[in-house]
Amino acid sequence: MTKFCAAAESLSSSRRRIDALLARKLNAFNVARRNHLGYPYNLDFAVDGIGQFAGFLVNNLGDPYVGSRYATEACDLEREVVAWFTELWDCPRPDDFWGAVVASGTEGNIWALYLARETHPTGILLYSQHSHYSIPKAARILRMEAACVECEPNGELSLAAFARAAAQHHGRPIIAALNCGTTFKGAHDDIAAALSVLDRSGHGRNRRFVHIDGALNAMVLPFDATAPLSIKPSLRLAIDSISVSGHKMVGTPMPCGVLVALRNHVRRIASSISYLGTCDSTLMGSRNGHAVLALWHRINTHGWKGYADDVAACLERARKLHDVLAAEAVPVLRNRHAITVVFPEPHQRIVAKYQLACHEKLAHAIVMPNVTARLIERFAADYIAWWRSGPPPAPCGGPTAEAVTP
Ligand SMILES: *Cc1c(COP(=O)(O)O)cnc(C)c1O
Repeated sequence: MTKFCAAAESLSSSRRRIDALLARKLNAFNVARRNHLGYPYNLDFAVDGIGQFAGFLVNNLGDPYVGSRYATEACDLEREVVAWFTELWDCPRPDDFWGAVVASGTEGNIWALYLARETHPTGILLYSQHSHYSIPKAARILRMEAACVECEPNGELSLAAFARAAAQHHGRPIIAALNCGTTFKGAHDDIAAALSVLDRSGHGRNRRFVHIDGALNAMVLPFDATAPLSIKPSLRLAIDSISVSGHKMVGTPMPCGVLVALRNHVRRIASSISYLGTCDSTLMGSRNGHAVLALWHRINTHGWKGYADDVAACLERARKLHDVLAAEAVPVLRNRHAITVVFPEPHQRIVAKYQLACHEKLAHAIVMPNVTARLIERFAADYIAWWRSGPPPAPCGGPTAEAVTP
């Protein structure tokens, strides 16, 4: 065999190996998607509109409002995405706000806290015990002094503990990271009440920066007409920024997110980069334009009505899952207006099959649009069979936390 033939032969066999491996991966993805209910990902999206862009390097380099000289970009659509979210979050003065599509909810949190630290270099970060790990991580990256504030058993920020912390730091500015839907228990902090606490401790608008981490539920609560204003992600409240993940309730085929912040804060940190022809106002330089296309396409095709129907259906199915488990005396928790259902961690077989996220002997299911009634029935049957076989009970946040009326 000539050297050339040997090379061609090994190329085609390595090609076969690659194809076989990809086929296995595809099969595994199909199985995993069918059984998934542990993470807050909306797997119900279509890519027909955006697939045609797969062969382009779409890069929204630099500031979304400035663009760059690189022309395969979608900054115009990015600004439309941001405008959609400022409207969703009930913004009275959209021109006062800046926004961007970011790499994930985590990037939104890191960038918001960076804006906060630059606004109040001597401030202290107060965050909730149930905040996502990206919040204390951001504090470490940014070398911000931070204090963790206790929660109620259901995962909501304890307002009494928050008031104590605010009073303790009356002499310096406060940076507060509040939750619109905690990661594990789906709890909503009372944002309006937390702002009143800050007002009372002498932390008015100019002595504080309030960020709302709404990775999942900043895209759920606006569609739940029964949710009180005080827990909604509303730019009518005197807050400074909100972030949300794009691959959670919005539904995109890649991780992404949206951050909205008061434009003045961004102006403070932005510097112009002449060789790119843009303005340096984002954490990432090159930014994923495919994510922008996916978000833009999804919000425009699915629309307010689509999400409102999804949210109503998810809340209803979450309530049913709660009731089915409660009927078996499982100590189950579903917070008000939440699509997250928390229960004792089951056998590893069930955890692995349904890809449940577990924490301190508890696990949760998140009833996203792709978590169908049938999937819930299958899961509940598996869970109850295990439960009846005599598992050790674990507390979920106390019976007082559970207050969902059918
Ligand atoms: C998921 C989540 C995040 C992180 O978002 P990613 O998009 O995964 O980076 C942040 N905060 C909360 C409350 C979350 O649930």
